[in-house]
Amino acid sequence: MSIIAIQSPSKYIQGAGIYNDIGKYLSPVATKFVILIDSFILPLIKDKLEQNLAAENIQYLLVEFQGECCHSEIERVMQLAVANQCMAILGIGGGKTIDTAKAVGFYAKYPTVVSPTVASSDAPCSALSVMYSDKGVFDSYLFLPNNPNLVIIDTQLVANAPSRFLAAGIGDALATWFEARACHRSGAKTMSGELSAAAALHLAKHCFDTLMAEGRKAMIAVQNKVVTPAVEKIVEANTYLSGVGFESGGLAAAHAVHNGLTILDDTHKYLHGEKVAYGVITQLILENVSDDELEQILSFCYDIGLPITLAQIGIHCVIEQKMKLVAEEACLESDTMKNMPGNIQPDDVYAALIAANQYGKNFLLRHSQ
Ligand SMILES: [Zn+2]
Repeated sequence: MSIIAIQSPSKYIQGAGIYNDIGKYLSPVATKFVILIDSFILPLIKDKLEQNLAAENIQYLLVEFQGECCHSEIERVMQLAVANQCMAILGIGGGKTIDTAKAVGFYAKYPTVVSPTVASSDAPCSALSVMYSDKGVFDSYLFLPNNPNLVIIDTQLVANAPSRFLAAGIGDALATWFEARACHRSGAKTMSGELSAAAALHLAKHCFDTLMAEGRKAMIAVQNKVVTPAVEKIVEANTYLSGVGFESGGLAAAHAVHNGLTILDDTHKYLHGEKVAYGVITQLILENVSDDELEQILSFCYDIGLPITLAQIGIHCVIEQKMKLVAEEACLESDTMKNMPGNIQPDDVYAALIAANQYGKNFLLRHSQ
């Protein structure tokens, strides 16, 4: 018997200026929130947030995020929330803040609201938190029983953030279709624990088509801090289509390569989606896609400002040794390389990592002339 599954947040709300009404959306959830927030976001929205929550008689405890989604941070936020009799959690900020908020919601049994201020990854809609060590090395996926109750995303805030974040979100979303396609071909189980539903595959494909049609336009708009229809479509693709698409469509080589790359200190200042973009190119080489498909993706990444060489994710020297380590790490049993069709081994991944770098270098050479 084959079992399929699809899961998603209970509600997803997106729009420019939606933060002006955030209290209205929060009041049906709870009357007292612990709000986990990125410290650099706090001054930007504090007044608006306080007015809105006061207008809806919502009490809250503000907690500034310490920077890593790790066990010690989850424990710290939980203790504060419980000591202050909070009834729900609201996470505001980037992917790691959101993931921490989701984990706190799970352990404390709180309704969970997440409000990403960047569209830099597909973390907000999913029922998993990516756990890191205190020092930022990928540790494991924490699978949660439920997706967030509510996701609220203000596209004007997204447009005000540095455009590199939107580019990284596009990199993360770019992997969704290729990884879902690989899982579908191999019959691998998805992050939902079952086989992919047709709906998830269609969302993943729609995510890819949206990126190709709107990605370049959206980047130009966000570089100028404005919200255009293309930005709205890309934020939805990066956050919702990719979120539901990856979770119920499955992960494969691109994210396994990302996870492998995180063991190198060189890559730590690069964003999740930037490393995933390199993982996408590596996966396409493992799949031996056509020249046209490879060229389409290299050209897209180049236009968006996503890395296509190892140097662009901080790896400049001792490449062979480092890529051997990355390949071994990417093929760990706990990771998603095993979801690829065929029996991919570390040697195969090593070869693809090296070839991807050369394809990227050749592409850059051709386009610098
Ligand atoms: Zn991702």
